Amino acid sequence: MRRRIDVGVLGATGMVGQQFVLQLAKHPWFRLAWLGASERSAGQAYGEAAPWRLPVPPPREIAEMRVEAAQPGNAPELVFSAMDAAVAGGIEQAFAKAGHVVVSNSRNHRMDADVPLLIPEVNGDHISLLSRQRALRGWAGAIVTNPNCSTVFLSMALAPLRTFGLKSVMVTTLQALSGAGYPGVASLDAVGNVVPFIDGEETKIETETKKILGALAGDHIEPHPVAVSAQTTRVPVVNGHTESIAVALESAPSIDEVREAFLRFNGPPQRHGLPTAPLQPLVYLHEQNRPQPRLDVDREHGMIVSIGRLRTCPVLGYKFIALGHNTVRGAAGAAVLNAELLVAEGVLAVPVER
Ligand code: NAP
Repeated sequence: MRRRIDVGVLGATGMVGQQFVLQLAKHPWFRLAWLGASERSAGQAYGEAAPWRLPVPPPREIAEMRVEAAQPGNAPELVFSAMDAAVAGGIEQAFAKAGHVVVSNSRNHRMDADVPLLIPEVNGDHISLLSRQRALRGWAGAIVTNPNCSTVFLSMALAPLRTFGLKSVMVTTLQALSGAGYPGVASLDAVGNVVPFIDGEETKIETETKKILGALAGDHIEPHPVAVSAQTTRVPVVNGHTESIAVALESAPSIDEVREAFLRFNGPPQRHGLPTAPLQPLVYLHEQNRPQPRLDVDREHGMIVSIGRLRTCPVLGYKFIALGHNTVRGAAGAAVLNAELLVAEGVLAVPVER
């Protein structure tokens, strides 16, 4: 019989950390047993340390847990990381060296050649980079990452189009305020406004997407040759990044064939029946004015990408709109799904009830 696996969260007090707490509180495989954050929060009860911003409160037993400093030692083998990128790099390495499997949201190690940058439906096979990581770094543990939030939605939408020969992509994002953490963007900048700059975001989308869509070749990833051009904006939406996407393809599928490719798309999470995997990762909305963050961001517990308005583009060939939940499928939910895949593929040992 399978026992639940103890897990910890680094950066548990932040926007993504709070989403981890909710995702893990009810998880059938994982038991939230440890919370870590900065020295500012260490020693306090979680309920006092976390500036809670989600509509559902944290369970009482978690609100009463003590937050610890982000040092390896007391944490379980599996830790999720949602730490500020300014500190995440070194702390995650220290945890991996000490034997922890770190499933991270932070940008620090995403583009390292021996670190899987995973979206389980798109590139689950990239997990095998972990053997190279072990050989190169000699860590008892490991680091696995998920992409930047906007990159998750773009890559999921593009993955089924690889079969038509992806040539080039132009994407403009309209990103929610919760993507900037808490307190994030000043209210005077955010309300009734659009800010056409998010530091570092365009580069992340343009580089991470090619690694994710790339092919495993022996012990490394050959980046996908697609050319990606991104423009990113911050808009006064609470949750949900919307993306306006245009693509050029080598073959000339009909609009119906492209829509069918979105609808048929699935991968290892669906085959394994992972606990938080949506049945259908890409959902197509036929109404002319959808998807919208307010109406569609929480569909399937925030774990899908909603697509709509697929039509021909006179410049690149095809264009459409995609929407995803940035702190769920774009962050905490993405990492939890990665950890479920590590368990299903035997990378993480499952404790057995005696
Ligand atoms: P946030 O709300 O600012 O939270 C940052 C977290 O990092 C807090 O728990 C904070 O703890 C902790 N932290 C800060 N300094 C630390 C230190 N020296 N040692 C240990 N912990 C420290 O940020 P967020 O939006 O949740 O983002 C967290 C990470 O996920 C970032 O790397 C971000 O780029 C990435 N991410 C965010 C999103 C999103 O939609 N928000 C999506 C994808 C990826 P204290 O409370 O104790 O300061």
